[in-house]
Amino acid sequence: MQLLRARNARFTLRSEPDFRHDPSVLLVNTTGELRDWYSTATVVIVGKSFYGKGGQNPVEPILASKPVVVGPHMENFQYIVDELRKAGGIVQLHSADALVSTLADLLRNPSAASIANALASPDKTTYRSVRPPRYGAPMAQVETVRGPVPADSLGTTLMHEHVFVLTEEVRQNYPGGWDEEVRIDDAVAKLTALAARGCQAIADPTVLGLGRNIARVQRVAARVPLHIIAATGLYTYNEVPQYFRFRLPGSRGIDPMAQMFIGDITEGISGTGVRAAFLKCAIDDQGLTPGVERVMRAVGRAHAETGAPITVHTDPHSGSGRVAIRVLREEHADLTKVVLGHSGDSTDLDYLAELADAGCLLGMDRFGLNLLTPFEERVGTVAALCERGYAGSMVLSHDFACYTDWFPDGSIAQFAPSWHFEHLFDEVLPALRERGVTQDQLDAMLVGNPRRYFTA
Ligand SMILES: [Zn+2]
Repeated sequence: MQLLRARNARFTLRSEPDFRHDPSVLLVNTTGELRDWYSTATVVIVGKSFYGKGGQNPVEPILASKPVVVGPHMENFQYIVDELRKAGGIVQLHSADALVSTLADLLRNPSAASIANALASPDKTTYRSVRPPRYGAPMAQVETVRGPVPADSLGTTLMHEHVFVLTEEVRQNYPGGWDEEVRIDDAVAKLTALAARGCQAIADPTVLGLGRNIARVQRVAARVPLHIIAATGLYTYNEVPQYFRFRLPGSRGIDPMAQMFIGDITEGISGTGVRAAFLKCAIDDQGLTPGVERVMRAVGRAHAETGAPITVHTDPHSGSGRVAIRVLREEHADLTKVVLGHSGDSTDLDYLAELADAGCLLGMDRFGLNLLTPFEERVGTVAALCERGYAGSMVLSHDFACYTDWFPDGSIAQFAPSWHFEHLFDEVLPALRERGVTQDQLDAMLVGNPRRYFTA
């Protein structure tokens, strides 16, 4: 009431006999009839969760089948909120900043976040519970190139680094200066130096289209003091490789492409015994071409079958992260298991917050590639998002490769001198600390979020 008076808002008290006369704000100061009031609402906001610790019980409005929006402070009910959020029946925002746009969306489409809708029509909802992982390792373990390891042993994990990115067909026909042993020794040296900085694991999203060769990566993994996590999927910005063009799903069958991804996760890759632990696809500025869509849906299907998480190469400048969210939702993906890669190329905080509010992890994963986005902007964006409460929604990396043939030899040192595996530890982390990012927030981005992503 004080607040309403301070704002000079016209309001009516429920206890007043003529309370219906002013419908703009009605302050319900009676007891025992809140559930009836909920039933008249289009959307219910738990206001206290935006400013005070603890929050309020969200179950009553949920029982009234209303979409419920809560803020960051739901500590007393967080386990309920987590479950409801997974089921698509509640929206939790990290700050009040996103409230207006979220409300606008929900008023347009209130059934989007209603638990009744989520339960009644699983096919239309944003989320269907994925099966628990059945790819060899039990839930508390993560598959790596050297085999399953306890999730806790991952520690500091860079979520997007490559061992080798190669145009394999060109390399095999025009080997030029390629020397297998030299390149493997070089990769071992670079990853050993990275481990010396405190990195304990890298997720390597090198899939078809990027020259994946797991046998070669195995030879590196055997000699380095960090875990390498392998991926399956396909990297294209437009068409699928010719191989897939006439290999199509039968009338009701699963896409053979998805079947291949599932095999990599459940049985292992190409006879190496190495199982992929995550899925990768791409959508760049060409948008959702038929080929890109086919791969993304196959990745979504493989995710639903296996529970393996997903990394999407996105182009934030064309907003392709939004399109990925839409398609993966249609494939019933658990968006908390999705990294939207290269989000860190953007400085658009509202775009990034929107993706994070959908549940996704933001890949702030091209540190050192300052030609695309300058160092100050990359660091400033992460710091600003931490300040807004999004440390739990970001992962950090370089998207560097021990060796890539995408650029002429020696040219990276010219056009991107900071692009190397030590940049994050030597320059980025100190700069983030300087901008007020706490150790807890750094631990979330480097340890907690990766572990959560890779475990069920
Ligand atoms: Zn990459």
